[in-house]
Amino acid sequence: MTDGCTVTDPLQATGGGPRHGCPVLPARGVFRPLGLADVSLDGGFWGGRQEVNATATLAHCEEWMERVGWLANFDRVAEGSTGPDRPGWPFSDSEVYKLVEALCWEVGRSGAPTAETAIRRLTARIARAQDPDGYLNTCFGHSSQPARYSDLEHGHELYNTGHLLQAAVARLRTTGADGLVEVARRAADHVCGTFGADGRNGICGHPEIEVGLVELGRALGVDRYVEQAALFLERRGHGTLREMPLGRAYFQDDVPIRQADTWRGHAVRALYLSAAAVDVATDRDDRDLLDAVQRQWRHAVARRTYLTGGMGSRHQDEGFGEDWELPPDRAYCETCAGVASIMVSWRLFLATGDPRYTDLVERTLYNVVATSPSSDGRAFFYANPLHQRTPAASTAGAGVSPRAETGTRSAWFEVSCCPTNVARTLASLAGYVATTDDGGLQIHQYAPATIRTRLPDGQRLAVRVETDYPASGGIHVHVTEGSGQPWTLSLRVPAWAAGARLVHDGRSTPVTPGMATLHRAFQIGDVITLELPVRPRLSRPDRRIDAVRGCVAVERGPEVLCVESHDLPAGDAIDSLEIDPFVPPRDVDGVVRVRGRLAAPAVPEQDWPYPAAVDIAPAAVDIAPAAAGWFEVPLRPYHSWARRGPSSMRVWLPATRSHADGHSS
Ligand SMILES: [Zn+2]
Repeated sequence: MTDGCTVTDPLQATGGGPRHGCPVLPARGVFRPLGLADVSLDGGFWGGRQEVNATATLAHCEEWMERVGWLANFDRVAEGSTGPDRPGWPFSDSEVYKLVEALCWEVGRSGAPTAETAIRRLTARIARAQDPDGYLNTCFGHSSQPARYSDLEHGHELYNTGHLLQAAVARLRTTGADGLVEVARRAADHVCGTFGADGRNGICGHPEIEVGLVELGRALGVDRYVEQAALFLERRGHGTLREMPLGRAYFQDDVPIRQADTWRGHAVRALYLSAAAVDVATDRDDRDLLDAVQRQWRHAVARRTYLTGGMGSRHQDEGFGEDWELPPDRAYCETCAGVASIMVSWRLFLATGDPRYTDLVERTLYNVVATSPSSDGRAFFYANPLHQRTPAASTAGAGVSPRAETGTRSAWFEVSCCPTNVARTLASLAGYVATTDDGGLQIHQYAPATIRTRLPDGQRLAVRVETDYPASGGIHVHVTEGSGQPWTLSLRVPAWAAGARLVHDGRSTPVTPGMATLHRAFQIGDVITLELPVRPRLSRPDRRIDAVRGCVAVERGPEVLCVESHDLPAGDAIDSLEIDPFVPPRDVDGVVRVRGRLAAPAVPEQDWPYPAAVDIAPAAVDIAPAAAGWFEVPLRPYHSWARRGPSSMRVWLPATRSHADGHSS
């Protein structure tokens, strides 16, 4: 890890004052993020999605929250008419706050008057529901409702408040203080007053208040909020919450965060908690805490993460499975876990400068966040499995989906956390594109963009990025402003981009994955081109990911590819497809093609699908030859398993030496 340099005045360094539009702004770190005031995305893959988000998704979310009564919940509290029939889960307030956050970023991005009007409309309803002492929740603490903080395990009160604080942070950093910020400040003060060092020894079952408190503390310059976040972090992991059927790992209350070696339990909870931990660690220069999150990231990314960047393989607790437990068809990969993973990786990147983190941000953006919304921005995936066995029934016009996994995108969900999380991420996406340090500009995500900033020495510089990435791999950086003083341009070269080249001054030089840097007295009109090889490539799983052992996947640039039944002969099941990994995939007019065949049935239709394996009965080979690695594996009756004490066990034993393994080992 690189030593971080202290940013004495991060607001000035970003050049945009308090309205710089950064979703995350650490007090120190290797790189300083540029916000929406400095970076705009101009069309392309992401700019187009931002437009759909702005013109369709934001209004779609508000309409649904009105329709299902989640907005009226605030009115009922204000009018004193709460009853036992409150619509929505206890966390439905958070969706309103996440929508407001998305609207605030949208105002910062585009200045859209409709978004500004919506913020004021929603803020008025939220503010009226706040109790005189600052408490704000539509599910607890009022007539016919449970008492405040009477169910910290599952009530989500502090979780909701955390999202309110993040909305206020977005407002502060794009527009400035207003009524929304005042509501958030009073709510944060109430949290500190209730759960401070001298207060109740409680934490929320769903982390989120921590990340909201740190960022609001940063934005308002109130250390008390950061201290409260640190207090919540340290309290967790000691059995502070009541035991529950899924175990305390579900809400990361099983092991203190400094001691944990990996992410476990509910994925979104684990990741929101880690995002806050990085924030606290960087602001307090707490190396032990930062090391702990980096250790957990390394373990979980190496053993508990899908090819898409998706996290969480278990449906029962929306959680991480064991190491290597990554079934493609039962992948949960909640969209929110993708958003939360980006939050953690971006923070770790700012703290350390390690481009592995921004590599994962890119993978997750293209393969989880971009997967969720429909083309029209009015339907969403919640779960993102890597294998769908049969086409699902259309959910168009079906109303609120009660299910997270549906096989088609749904307009709204009973638990509708993902649409608003996508909305706030897309609206603020320009804040994850570029950074500066004392020596120059770094670009981490590639899209048509305009980037303006001022270096600490006062030099103003601006570049325009032209590219149709990821359709092709040419990224052209045009210098459009500068004083002629030397500075360093750094461009991320993704880990998959072996063979990348940097073209400048009429020369083309090879660059390796990591950061390609160029130090020059750049002149206006200079063009620097990064050429990334986005040709299709085969990837195979670690052999320990047994659910997909013997399989390969095809990737192209940052995109993971898939086969769809639409492209197979009618009537053929996708499960009968096999491909020849010895023939390289080809890119034909923008469509990648592989050599494949549909496996003919080995036997006629049968009543019982597990016939005797006579065709592979051992004949010529001794069961325990001297060849390295082979040994005699005893088998026991399934019914006898675990009778000799705890054991691991499996019935299906994958064959070795499939084509996909490529070579013996
Ligand atoms: Zn979600």
